[in-house]
Amino acid sequence: MNKERYLFVISGPSGSGKDSVVRELQKKHKEIETTISATTRAMRGGEKDGEDYYFISREEFERRRDAGDVLEYTEYCGNYYGTLRSEIDRRLEKGVTTFLVIDVVGAQSMKRTYPGCTTIFVRPPSYEELSRRLHKRETEDEDTIQKRLARALEEMEYAVDYDYLVVNDELDDCVEEVYQIVCQRQA
Ligand code: 5GP
Repeated sequence: MNKERYLFVISGPSGSGKDSVVRELQKKHKEIETTISATTRAMRGGEKDGEDYYFISREEFERRRDAGDVLEYTEYCGNYYGTLRSEIDRRLEKGVTTFLVIDVVGAQSMKRTYPGCTTIFVRPPSYEELSRRLHKRETEDEDTIQKRLARALEEMEYAVDYDYLVVNDELDDCVEEVYQIVCQRQA
């Protein structure tokens, strides 16, 4: 049995709502788990260490990376984000459906390491809607929002390389669509 079929990699621009999609999916289907990434960015209000991310220093990140504990990582808007090896292997061994929410660079390297994984790209309905969502969030300053919007346009070009493309217009519909993909891949 190919263990990699339990692995789902989901990406999409900041503001595409990919985190909400995965959160809702997990609420509805308790057997699905998500990995927690390590990051060097500052914690946002409402986030918890060890729940949203493992918030670590740059030095600590580099130490773990050099020790081979980081499976893939990217530098995004001046911060490191990476997947810890320990978050993946133990779940695949047990046959747990595992979701990774990572950027396009990370998704490419995961596909190289685990060619049997499924990649899903979440797209916002439009650029205007993306900009509206990022402004509404009120967690970043205008400069950061502009950087994220610019990066979003770059990221959209990678969508064609994914196994599936879903549009997050209505959250519930998008969650159902992603769940159908999970069922299909594990049938
Ligand atoms: P945010 O700061 O909004 O939480 O995340 C910024 C970006 O980093 C998002 O596109 C998110 O998917 C990506 N990201 C989060 N964790 C990881 C990771 O472990 N690896 C990679 N490659 N990207 C990540």
